Amino acid sequence: MTKPANQSGDSAEDVKNSTLYKIRHSLAHVMAQAVCDMRPGSTRGFGPPVDNGFYYDFVLSEPLTPEDFKEIEKRMKRILKLGQVFEHEDLAIPDALKTLEDLGEAFKVAYAKELAEKNNYETLSFYKNGPFVDMCEGPHVEKTSKIPAGCFKIRSLAGAYWRGDEKNQMMTRVYAWAYETKDELDEEVRRWTEAQKRDHKKLGQSLDLFTIDPVVGKGLPLWLPKGTAIRDELEKLAQEEEFRGGYQRVATPHVTRDELYYQSGHLPYYADVMYPPMVVEETVDSDGGEQEQAVKETYRLKPMNCPHHHRIFAARKRSYRDLPLRLAEYGQVYRFEEHGALSGLLRVRGMCMNDAHIYCTEKDIESEFLEVMNLHDRYFKLLGIKDYSMRLSLWDPDDPKGKEKYVDDSAAWASTEDLVRRAMQKSGMDFTEVKGEAAFYGPKIDIQLRTVTGREETFSTNQLDFAIPRADRMNLVYTGADGADHHPYIIHRAPLGTHERFVAYLIEHFGGAFPTWLAPVQVRIIPIGEKFNDYAYKLETELRNALVRVEVDGSDDKVNRKIRNGATSKVPILLIVGEREQSDSTVTLRRYGEKDQPTMAFDQFKTELHAEISARTMRRQPGL
Ligand SMILES: [Zn+2]
Ligand SMILES: [Zn+2]
Repeated sequence: MTKPANQSGDSAEDVKNSTLYKIRHSLAHVMAQAVCDMRPGSTRGFGPPVDNGFYYDFVLSEPLTPEDFKEIEKRMKRILKLGQVFEHEDLAIPDALKTLEDLGEAFKVAYAKELAEKNNYETLSFYKNGPFVDMCEGPHVEKTSKIPAGCFKIRSLAGAYWRGDEKNQMMTRVYAWAYETKDELDEEVRRWTEAQKRDHKKLGQSLDLFTIDPVVGKGLPLWLPKGTAIRDELEKLAQEEEFRGGYQRVATPHVTRDELYYQSGHLPYYADVMYPPMVVEETVDSDGGEQEQAVKETYRLKPMNCPHHHRIFAARKRSYRDLPLRLAEYGQVYRFEEHGALSGLLRVRGMCMNDAHIYCTEKDIESEFLEVMNLHDRYFKLLGIKDYSMRLSLWDPDDPKGKEKYVDDSAAWASTEDLVRRAMQKSGMDFTEVKGEAAFYGPKIDIQLRTVTGREETFSTNQLDFAIPRADRMNLVYTGADGADHHPYIIHRAPLGTHERFVAYLIEHFGGAFPTWLAPVQVRIIPIGEKFNDYAYKLETELRNALVRVEVDGSDDKVNRKIRNGATSKVPILLIVGEREQSDSTVTLRRYGEKDQPTMAFDQFKTELHAEISARTMRRQPGL
């Protein structure tokens, strides 16, 4: 039996036999040959094809830098021209080991031994092209000249442990792109380059938006003043929209007794994503306060806001006249995400959620749900978000584990799914239906956004809940028109998701060049010489009094330098002021990404700016 040795090995047969797969696989050999020629004495690890090309791992005799990429490519092209034939050979295990030892490939010797022992192989598969020999299962192109020469490019270097284990030696991984046509390669290179520039972690650093401080803790971002300005603007937007939509704002604590989560059903099931409990001793006054008693209480950091809002609902007697009751909060929650999953603002342990719960009767569900979808639509239009998809997640009556996964009430599932489906149809938004993805308490809409860098994320959900208010859970009731008690339905919604994830998305969406209303610094005033500083500071005061986020570049830099710095910081509006502007009470405008430099009366500018900010106008469409 012969077994793969040089790749992940789990790709489907047809993928492996595709031309592109063969090209990428063959190029990995070609690159390894070129690198080992450039760095004699290097040893090799694995070198498989991947999604957009291939990589190869090396322990290099002398390091490589990106400056070497051109040389590697040149040598690879030379090898392609040589038309080296890929020759296959199955070697008996002793011969295989001897071949690898003679090549000095210690990693491959170890791996070959392991493969042979584990699987009782008698032979191992090898390929030879020109002077280059590798243990590999193929397939490859027939000869190197069959590989299109202009369709690959070395991408980057990274550190990688042998076999992905941090106890093992660190190797250098050389990544490369490879496609069948140059157009595909160019498109991928362009997309990747842009994605690198837009990476929210990079821009978050260079634009001074947030920082993650190991002293504070993993996954607990600190929002710097400029990042906080963006959060505040989003929150203001949500507050205004929600105010107009009849929501009422509430505020709830970050720590809470365990008891609440047992009532809501989050404990014990949700325990693994919650921070561990805090046990405190509390003194309780018994009757009349004469005897004091010490009791232990268990508290947790809040992982979601729902149960708190439900307790607010329960805190007063509610009548059908109070419904729909819409309680909103940008609520801070904590979830103990696995350390390996944490990434910038995208995966964090502390997050602030655009949360609200709508308590309503059955007859209001459709219109309330529709209004939430309309709210999503308004946000998406406002922010120029076009690449999204909606999924209606339904229960699965045929799931053998359905009784544990979902509340067991087929009539309620049928009627609520129907209501949500009708609301979606009325919204006019495209959606697909997926069985078996519902929440345990009801059907929901999941909204997926695709980032400019091609990553797909669930950013928000809109959920209908018929189960939590019932007597066996939180027992929420209102008095109906009939004078009897009824359980309301709840809509859980968070159209802007969490600040953390949404700001990460927006940073990449706008490439850091936010529209004026959202920009951390909206206007920067640039005096063209020190004599005009006073005029600049006077304008700054006027704009600040008009609640504009404004600053003056009072540095000694030359004016062109100041303008360049303004562009690097992606400030939407630069106001350039000099002799003429000062004497005429005017300003000269330079907008980010625009060529025109109109001069206008400062008062007129102020009026226009106010209109632009309050209408949340977007002058430039985001996107690549
Ligand atoms: Zn191969
Ligand atoms: Zn909720």
